[in-house]
Amino acid sequence: MTEQTTTDTPTLLDVDALVRFTQELVRIRSVHEPETGSDESVAAALVADQMRAFGWEPQVVEVAPGRPNVLAVIEGGGGPGPTLGFEGHTDVVTEGDLGQWSVEPYGAEIRDGRMYGRGTADMKAGVASMLFGVRALQLAGPFPGRVVLLVLADEEGMMLGAKHVAQTELARSIDACIVCEPEGDEVCVAAKGAVRIALEFRGRMAHGAMPHQGRNPIVAAARLVAALEAYEEGLRETYPEHEHLGVVHVTPTVSLAGSLDQVNVIPADASVRIDVRTVTGVDHARLVAEVEALAREGAHPLGVSVTASVIDDRPAVEIAEDHPVVQAVVAAHEAETGVVPAYGGVPGATDGTILQRDAGVPVVVYGPGDKWIAHQADEYVDVDDLDRYARVYADAARRFLAGDH
Ligand SMILES: [Zn+2]
Repeated sequence: MTEQTTTDTPTLLDVDALVRFTQELVRIRSVHEPETGSDESVAAALVADQMRAFGWEPQVVEVAPGRPNVLAVIEGGGGPGPTLGFEGHTDVVTEGDLGQWSVEPYGAEIRDGRMYGRGTADMKAGVASMLFGVRALQLAGPFPGRVVLLVLADEEGMMLGAKHVAQTELARSIDACIVCEPEGDEVCVAAKGAVRIALEFRGRMAHGAMPHQGRNPIVAAARLVAALEAYEEGLRETYPEHEHLGVVHVTPTVSLAGSLDQVNVIPADASVRIDVRTVTGVDHARLVAEVEALAREGAHPLGVSVTASVIDDRPAVEIAEDHPVVQAVVAAHEAETGVVPAYGGVPGATDGTILQRDAGVPVVVYGPGDKWIAHQADEYVDVDDLDRYARVYADAARRFLAGDH
């Protein structure tokens, strides 16, 4: 700790404006839904407007039609120093079945200290807190280095926004990044990996009364699915339970073959999809090759051929607990709340996974909202979290940029 304390920061934070801005953002239905013309453009424009109101000069970069990233660089004016990133996304998942909601999904209604609505926790609160937190940091006076704000499109889909920005010099200039996803006060130092595998089994069609004339791909697919259980067990022995990420999962999620109307027909083709969730250390390429070999082992004696392909591949990522950005967040959280935060892991991937994989940026995930509330009906965020997180972000940034953590 230095002599400079954070006690003056709260007065630099316009809490009413922060709450209002979050509500405005939640009221924009930023679901990516090509069939209705809905996308992130209106939410991104509101973010860019708020940045301009702070006197910043945002760059708005479309990564696909109607799907802009909003980027801003805030120079500290306090001499040379590192570059700290803050990351959030503007897209939200659909509200789903309205019957499940007891509030209007895009009403941003505040009741008993909670703001309700799709995207409140995941993650318009995080976006709002990081913007207003960095503004408070700036108003507190010059700081070394600079802050880069990344407000991206398509986190909930293929992470096009993160993939796009990760190819830029700006992303590569970031020394460390705080991803503001809702983690319920945990400081998440790891995120689980995912690899999705598609397997196509090709046999030969035949009459059910003459099965010897055919080559049944259903049996081949079933042999693979049955073999995956032991394979998963073996992986868990090689890669034991991770402190923050738990165990490896190898889960068949799709199995398609034949027709419900043609019970007397052996089909020619069967398809299987496998959703694999990994911990750090698992070699995805090797895993895919092993699953393909397992599939062949069952299929070839039947005369069935197999092709395997990868639909999506995101590595598990990790940052050292003693990394300066992690320690800055931990110290700022403790200074604000009086509580030492717990370390945690993210069960899915975030945009931070892509920033780390493609641009080499170390990421820590820490943001307002309950860890398990995302994508549920009656999603909410505690209104008090908005300014609390904004203050922690400002203080964490100050500590990290000044090398004080
Ligand atoms: Zn999210």
